[in-house]
Amino acid sequence: MSLNWILLSAGRMIFAKRSIMTARYTSSEMIDVEDARETILSQIVATETESVALTACLGRVLAQDVVSDIDIASFDSTAMDGFAVRFSDFSDVNESNPLKLKIIGILGAGSVYESTVEPGQALRIMTGAPVPSSVDTVVKIEDVAIEGESAECPSGEYATFTKMPKLRDHIRPRGEEAVRGDVLLHIGERISTAGAGLLAATGNAKILAYRRPRVAISSTGDELVDVDQIPGPGQIRNSNSYSLAAAAIDAGAEVTVLPAVADNREALVETLKAAAGSFDFVITSGGAAEGDFDYVTSVVRELGTLYFNKVNMRPGKAQTFGIIDDTPVFGLPGNPAAAMVGFEILIRPALLKMQGLPDLRRPTVRAMLTTDVRKKADSRRFYLRARVDRDGEQRLIVTPEKNQSSALFSALNRSNCLLVIPEGSEPCPAGTEVDCIRLDIQEGVIL
Ligand code: AMP
Ligand code: MG
Repeated sequence: MSLNWILLSAGRMIFAKRSIMTARYTSSEMIDVEDARETILSQIVATETESVALTACLGRVLAQDVVSDIDIASFDSTAMDGFAVRFSDFSDVNESNPLKLKIIGILGAGSVYESTVEPGQALRIMTGAPVPSSVDTVVKIEDVAIEGESAECPSGEYATFTKMPKLRDHIRPRGEEAVRGDVLLHIGERISTAGAGLLAATGNAKILAYRRPRVAISSTGDELVDVDQIPGPGQIRNSNSYSLAAAAIDAGAEVTVLPAVADNREALVETLKAAAGSFDFVITSGGAAEGDFDYVTSVVRELGTLYFNKVNMRPGKAQTFGIIDDTPVFGLPGNPAAAMVGFEILIRPALLKMQGLPDLRRPTVRAMLTTDVRKKADSRRFYLRARVDRDGEQRLIVTPEKNQSSALFSALNRSNCLLVIPEGSEPCPAGTEVDCIRLDIQEGVIL
């Protein structure tokens, strides 16, 4: 099958998927969380790749496999300061049957011993130095008595051994880290601190990574004033732009906070048009419901394709998603916790997918409720701000915040998980096992 054909058929599949989704969700019906997630993810493609310097690679997602160009290390080396010896010289060595060998030199890391260590001889050797092929064992310096050490003879003249070593003691074998051709890091892998070391060891001063998605954030609302202002009557500070900016940065994005937009249709049209033309992903907060001054949904519908504007979840059912100018645009609710939960559940996976990451779900743990959860008869999925902990017997327990108001940052700030109460479930008494999405653990981590 030719590459062209594969690309063509992949393109057709995406096209087919898009039209199915379009047909299904352009109306204002409420859709389930999982459908909303899938709808967004089906519209997301990875960003292009770019060359990134090794010193800036931490947390970036590899767009290439990393193959070792050499054996690492490319020689047997000593793991200890001591003496390189021939194991065959040792026979039942102990305190009352010591072995005395002639010291023939001293070798430091970075040097090579060119001649042969003969029977009856020992080579003094420093950690990291290559072990000559004529020896097969290293005895650490603490276990050796040295005679004749002087300024003229820094290695010493004789070494006395009073213990039996084991064959190949303290020798790090060639290729212990990798042999030439080994794939050490894989495409789609987030570069860790140890990964940076492997990149250096394999000679990669630069690597190919997915470009960080460029995300624009714009809050809407007549009541908003900037962070450096004292709010007047009826005004509040624009905090969402900054919580969402932090969340997007945490998801690996490069963020631009746009000026807040008034509750004015024309202003929103201008902002969304311009942002969709210059960014990879556009996020708004506020004005996403169906109030008299909520314009996000209708503007997305006017400028592009609206996929949904209500999701079967609490907090924050008013979640709008569409595509303008090939750019995903997401309208989050204005209530701070609702905006952050919407970001976490629906936008974060999309930003991760844009960076080529394969794992798009945070680890979920099962934990026992410490209190009753009395939820109103409601068919929506609840994401309660909560804290997972361990009890005295090391069992996982979870305590929801008492005040679940979607207006609060502090409850979320104290939480380390979102406690999930599935759609349509009855009130849950203390002791019930529930799913908790860990907000403090990255996607792909195995618990
Ligand atoms: P809305 O979704 O526009 O109806 O807003 C819902 C609630 O969230 C209102 O109480 C708003 O004042 C509040 N809100 C809207 N935008 C922000 C923001 N950027 N920062 C903090 N609170 C906001
Ligand atoms: Mg508003």
